[in-house]
Amino acid sequence: MRAKKSLGQNFFKNEKLLEKIIEKSEIPEKSIVLEIGPGKGALTKILFKNNFKVFAVEKDKRMISFLEEKFEKEIKDKKFFLFEDDVLKIDFEKMGLKNEKFYLVANLPYYISSRFLRVVFEGKILPKKMTLVLQKEVALRIAEKKKRAPSARAQKALTKKIKEKSSLLSLSVKAYGDPKFLLPISRKNFSPIPRVDSAAICIENISKNFFKKNKISEDEFFNFLKICFSGKRKTLLKNLSAKYKKEKILEVFNFLKINLKERAEDLELKDFLEIKKNLN
Ligand code: SAM
Repeated sequence: MRAKKSLGQNFFKNEKLLEKIIEKSEIPEKSIVLEIGPGKGALTKILFKNNFKVFAVEKDKRMISFLEEKFEKEIKDKKFFLFEDDVLKIDFEKMGLKNEKFYLVANLPYYISSRFLRVVFEGKILPKKMTLVLQKEVALRIAEKKKRAPSARAQKALTKKIKEKSSLLSLSVKAYGDPKFLLPISRKNFSPIPRVDSAAICIENISKNFFKKNKISEDEFFNFLKICFSGKRKTLLKNLSAKYKKEKILEVFNFLKINLKERAEDLELKDFLEIKKNLN
């Protein structure tokens, strides 16, 4: 079966690595795991090995037929529930999943990772934890790497450069949970080989508590973040000036001791919350 480029199909071919990803994800035994984009079932097989009950959403009809045949027994034994659907449109509640009662794992096409995260976080039904294989640079932006990579010096420099900067995506993730870097994954572990390396991360303690605790709606907070990040090369002061009076911004920056030359990418989640509260 030929890989469909339009669906970002790069299949895992290293079983040991998949086992390591699942081991590091620390998913309790007998949990319900929702796999997004199971493809030919390389990761699904490891999920069964770990005794999980698996729900899966796959968009490619050909893969659905393949999986139905490959995991015929698991389907019969009610250990595998397969849904042919687009994950960007699916309703987890309708699938029979319950809030914070399931674990999500996904190795999705890179071009939908941001949209996918937004859809999941904005939904009513949240997973307890998520394990994601992402483009390495994106993974590093979301979850700082604790240990230095064993080899590549260049990689170390890149890590350092990226990890200190916030992005709209990394802040969104941090508003909903605690991201953790799991392991780097070389592009050689996929077939066909993609153009970039990957990394696995997990997001723990997923909830909407940040918004409840700070009495701010998700929409209000993210609309504010979008203003802060509107001009990438501009200072935060300049970006905010499009919406707020300059004197007020200066007053707030002075009060919070924020440098006027600061860019949005240099600040952390709590800084944006403070700025927003004080601007109001
Ligand atoms: N998990 C498999 C593995 O690791 O070998 C396949 C990973 S492959 C990178 C991405 C998978 O996601 C493909 O099987 C593809 O068909 C599926 N996919 C792509 N877009 C999707 C979408 N919007 N909804 C559900 N599945 C999707």
